Amino acid sequence: NLAIRKLTVRFGSLTAVDDVDLDIGNGEVVALLGPSGCGKSTLLRAVAGLEPQAEGTVRRGDEDLARMPVHKRGVGLVFQDGQLFPHRDVAGNIRFGLRMHKINDPGRVDELLDLVGLSGYQRRKVTELSGGEQQRVALARALAPRPGLLLLDEPLSALDRALREQLALDLARMLRKAGTSALVVTHDHDEAFTLADRVALMREGRIVQTGTAEEVWRHPIDEPTATFLGCGL
Ligand code: ATP
Ligand code: MG
Repeated sequence: NLAIRKLTVRFGSLTAVDDVDLDIGNGEVVALLGPSGCGKSTLLRAVAGLEPQAEGTVRRGDEDLARMPVHKRGVGLVFQDGQLFPHRDVAGNIRFGLRMHKINDPGRVDELLDLVGLSGYQRRKVTELSGGEQQRVALARALAPRPGLLLLDEPLSALDRALREQLALDLARMLRKAGTSALVVTHDHDEAFTLADRVALMREGRIVQTGTAEEVWRHPIDEPTATFLGCGL
């Protein structure tokens, strides 16, 4: 399991992530919710080791991820727009994820495409895929090296509502099947319910409340949180 302690990221006089403590259990999926600009993406980037000036620790067992080279951290990242390589086909994109981690497993690409529901898509150009298909490829690429932790920054928000609901269900199933822990940023409350074992609410750089989705909706910790969630206090 993962233990984030006193994680702080400053940009000049702005403290974007402010003394955050958060635990993510083995195989647990935590949704990170909060208003725009509260520091969600910065927190994910810091956990992934992409904010070099971050203070604090991100421990998994005895290892401090902040002190490990990026390719050894066992952390997969997926952003809103997938960020696929347009000049590579589907298999090429996924193989890139494997090569980065020096994994040579010829059957793995087919296995991953099965997992994300894109069997037979190996040779397809990624530029000719729908948005939902592209996000599935991005997920397959992130899952390729079997990361212990997946960081997902609004992975479905570019999609329309119906597709988002379907993919959220698929994603929940995939994460369970792969046994991967995940921290998922989402703006969509239903998505948080579908995906997450636990919800963490963030405001102005701080985690103000954590709990199951039900606990958080029933007993929001304060007025701003209730307003944000759109429920009564
Ligand atoms: P959104 O929901 O809109 O994606 P967010 O919660 O992901 O918002 P962040 O992107 O983490 O918010 O930004 C948190 C704060 O840090 C914002 O005020 C933002 O302007 C600021 N910020 C983010 N990255 C940088 C940077 N590289 N340099 C300076 N300020 C930054
Ligand atoms: Mg963001």
